[in-house]
Amino acid sequence: MRNSDHSSFPDVALESSTAQTQGVGIAAYQAELEVQNENLRLAQRHMEQARDAFARLYNFSPNGYLTLSSSGIILQLNQTFADMLGLSISDLTYQPFVNYLSENERRIFLARYPSFFKSPRDKNIETTLRGCNGRVHVRLTGRSEFAAFFSPKRQEEGTVLLLAVNDITEQHRLDEARRDSEEKFRLIVETTTDMIFQIDHASIFTYASPATPSVIGWEVEQIVGTSFIKLIAPESLEVAMKAFAQVMEGTSIQLLELQILRSNHSTITVGVSVAPQIRNGSVIGLQGIARDISVRKKLLDDLSRSNTELEQFAYAVSHDMRQPLRMINSYLQILAKELGGDISQTARDCIHYATDGAVRMDQMIVSLLAYSRIGRKSDPIGVVSLRETLDEALTFLAPAILETQAIIEINGEFPAFTLSRDEMVRLFQNLVDNGLKYQPVGRIPHITITARESDKNWIFSVEDNGIGIDPSQAHRLFQVFSRLQSRAKYDGNGVGLAICRKIVEKHGGKIWIKSFGDGHGTTFYFTIPKTTNPVTI
Ligand code: ADP
Repeated sequence: MRNSDHSSFPDVALESSTAQTQGVGIAAYQAELEVQNENLRLAQRHMEQARDAFARLYNFSPNGYLTLSSSGIILQLNQTFADMLGLSISDLTYQPFVNYLSENERRIFLARYPSFFKSPRDKNIETTLRGCNGRVHVRLTGRSEFAAFFSPKRQEEGTVLLLAVNDITEQHRLDEARRDSEEKFRLIVETTTDMIFQIDHASIFTYASPATPSVIGWEVEQIVGTSFIKLIAPESLEVAMKAFAQVMEGTSIQLLELQILRSNHSTITVGVSVAPQIRNGSVIGLQGIARDISVRKKLLDDLSRSNTELEQFAYAVSHDMRQPLRMINSYLQILAKELGGDISQTARDCIHYATDGAVRMDQMIVSLLAYSRIGRKSDPIGVVSLRETLDEALTFLAPAILETQAIIEINGEFPAFTLSRDEMVRLFQNLVDNGLKYQPVGRIPHITITARESDKNWIFSVEDNGIGIDPSQAHRLFQVFSRLQSRAKYDGNGVGLAICRKIVEKHGGKIWIKSFGDGHGTTFYFTIPKTTNPVTI
């Protein structure tokens, strides 16, 4: 064997030493190759892991991903996009993207696609997909790129569009709901006959609705940008400024009555309700609603005047009628005395009935007087604890309570208000008195008076164990001179409950009864609204 450099060496020795050297070299080389192989295998495994991780990220990202050709063919897509449509990746691959848009979106999309494909940066398309899961509103953002795609079926090479597909169905629904509600609000504001307005913290009108001229006589353009103070008549200025300061501190105001100067210099009365406009926790202005209440106010004034006149009339008439009645009564007594024992039983009965009638008529007139006196402005008003008024009423009724051995129970905390003490005493007195009076013979009255609080009212009840009231007759009880029992059985003239109703309604409350009828007792309820000048004691 010759060496490549053709020098001559003893062949055998040379061969064996070369073989040895070669053997060592090959082994080292093999070992090195194996290390290299191992490294390659490791690298490959890392690559495969990275590829799988990337594929998972790509497929299950919250966004859909798509690759579209210039003609809008889907070249590649991730699982999220396929899920949006409820289809599989293989169903969608190589299909035209427009096939999955709702019909009315296709034309728009096709018109925009060429320019979007060319330069998609800073643009986006909002459209509606239609798949097996129904409609999905999506926003498409994209990037163009040069790429090659190989697949067993086809090969694409050239510029493609990479699209991210965001599901904005929920946002779309919220936007639509907001648009709907804005539209409704706009319609209300623009069609209502009331004036709706906004005023900023510097007292300047920033908005006035189209009804403004018909309510306050000024055109919208005349007042937006100017201060509301200019519109307030001098007599209402102080009230208006105080209310404005209050709203700027965060308090809403209901039905404030203000005199407004119209553009023709006349004044009108408007009822205004306003609420603070709050942004990021601070009051930035107010919004309100104003209604022309001149006519209503005039009607109310007329009604109140006519009521006062009627009450004065009832008072005067009943007051003046008592005098001739007293005369009739006195002369009847003189007549009876004069005639002494010389008259027949019939004549005696007649005189007795006439006297009795005159006495009853006097009682009725006295009750009518009491009724017409309720709510007179001259009544003293003060801080009244309702528990004290109840105690006072019970003191007045002490003889009847003693006589009937009645059991009186009082429950609950009683509030205090600024109102007429006498009226509240009379209210409790009438109700408890009826409870004592309207009892079956021989039954010991048991009367429970309770006070409790609800959201807006104090609710009082007076419950008895008496004869009860037929519920179908309940509506008659509170009318003047209305009675359900004969006078022979239970004395009275039917004005007590009418007085109770007048007192309660004067304070903005309501009165009603609950009874299970004959012999089952009655509960009277009445409310006093918490807004009736409450007092903390
Ligand atoms: P009066 O008691 O003077 O007749 P009211 O106005 O107080 O007048 O009562 C009207 C009518 O309501 C009474 O005649 C009676 O028929 C009925 N009534 C009132 N309170 C009760 C009660 N607690 N239980 C049963 N009936 C009652």
